[in-house]
Amino acid sequence: MAHDEQEDCIEEAERVEEVERVEVDLAVAGAGACGLMAALRASENRDVVVAVLEKDAREGSNAAVSSGSLAAAGTRWQRDAGIKDSPQQHADEILAQSGDERQRDLVEALCQVAPDYVSWIADSGYALEVGVDMTRKGMSVPRLHADPLRRGGGPLITHLRSLLAARDNVALMEDAPVRSLQVFGSGPAVTVMGLTARQGRRQVEVAAGRVVLATDGFAGNPELMRRHCAALGDPFFGGTSASTGDSVAWLEELGVEFVNMGACLRHGQVTVGHGTRVNPNLPWLGAVLVNTAGRRFVDEQAHGYSGLAGVIQAQPGQRAAMVWDAQAQETARHSEMMRESAEAGAIRQASDVAALASALRVDQPVLEESLRPVLGRRSLQAPFHYAWLTHGVLTTQGGAAIDPRGRVLRPDGSPVRGLRAGGGVAVGLAGERSEGYSSGNGLLAAFGMGWVIGTEVAAG
Ligand SMILES: Cc1cc2nc3c(=O)[nH]c(=O)nc-3n(C[C@H](O)[C@H](O)[C@H](O)COP(=O)(O)OP(=O)(O)OC[C@H]3O[C@@H](n4cnc5c(N)ncnc54)[C@H](O)[C@@H]3O)c2cc1C
Repeated sequence: MAHDEQEDCIEEAERVEEVERVEVDLAVAGAGACGLMAALRASENRDVVVAVLEKDAREGSNAAVSSGSLAAAGTRWQRDAGIKDSPQQHADEILAQSGDERQRDLVEALCQVAPDYVSWIADSGYALEVGVDMTRKGMSVPRLHADPLRRGGGPLITHLRSLLAARDNVALMEDAPVRSLQVFGSGPAVTVMGLTARQGRRQVEVAAGRVVLATDGFAGNPELMRRHCAALGDPFFGGTSASTGDSVAWLEELGVEFVNMGACLRHGQVTVGHGTRVNPNLPWLGAVLVNTAGRRFVDEQAHGYSGLAGVIQAQPGQRAAMVWDAQAQETARHSEMMRESAEAGAIRQASDVAALASALRVDQPVLEESLRPVLGRRSLQAPFHYAWLTHGVLTTQGGAAIDPRGRVLRPDGSPVRGLRAGGGVAVGLAGERSEGYSSGNGLLAAFGMGWVIGTEVAAG
């Protein structure tokens, strides 16, 4: 197509036929974990009018494709299971893993509300339990909560959306990407007054007392990934295509501070050629990792799955085979990740070491040596299960500096009036490096800040 024709097409697609102006108390950009929770919590006050604008109703949010594991400490399920835990212990363990004491107040605020919103989700009709089978690096006690059938985040987000649909003081506009913020004033005096979205040929201008940015991070934006996360190489991308970091440009214009932009939620257990994941619990069930030469190259329990990604990236071919046995499989198979991997054909079986060595194309004596149990670990018994794994990136963890109320901060620490942010738009809890990510941090930062912001808005 000639250049002029191309420009005509773009102009035609951008043509606005109608402008709709609405005024609300709270405008939320993004209907994922943070946005839905902020809207649900705020609209519990029936006098508060909320508009939620969602870019992509088709593919959905990262929350909807997530495993739906909710980290929370001091919950009623933990108490019933005799597990001693507290929000303070949760916060301390996240900070021990991230090493990012600058975020202590934020981390503590999020851990404090986690048991409240997890209970609220269950009381709203979505069954949860504490995953005593979900051991994770850096987690001293079972702290992840999930639905009993381990169906992942999809049904949870569907449930929250249905709650929102029943609220007559909330309007959810789908396929309505937010394009810009409406601001008044400039420099330190700037106030965010609303946002502008597009729904087909309709321009929607939303004036709002408060605006929440809940559009997630930029892992689906190759240009921003090259700029901030080049060290990750060319990983498999396991998030949704909507995470294009749309908020970054708006926040840059406001001169806010960005923190930890090189950190990501990575995954070192992504199946080669399929992009599914295996259960992160496998290393604690005795699974062994060997490289393409059949050599064991890492203590499998020394890294969380995000930290493991860098270790796998450094291996020949950026891949390794994970091997486990029937006993481990019996526990690990209860997860949406294992069901998806099995359905994709990513998990294979070998009857004995000879068959395994042949399938992996490695020397049998080398493999036998690798499978010999190290001190304190169990010995795997044939038949074996195995999967070739590589590294992937799921979401970014760097973002705008926020305070424990979700107010967006400039480099001098002053908040931008009228604006809140949470989830992947804001700084994550992993610190400067992806190795600092603790399991459950993503939804904690998103649901937690949505809860904090929504509660404040509801209180007026
Ligand atoms: C495969 C996978 C598994 C994961 N598993 C877990 C887990 O088990 N536990 C955990 O704690 N974390 C997990 N995470 C991380 C977690 O899903 C994210 O950290 C979390 O969803 C971030 O929440 P959010 O509200 O910021 O963004 P999302 O939940 O991604 O929601 C953002 C929404 O904003 C919309 N949007 C984007 N741009 C615009 C725009 N311009 N205008 C309007 N709307 C827009 C998007 O379409 C999307 O619906 C996982 C992530 C992935 C990818």
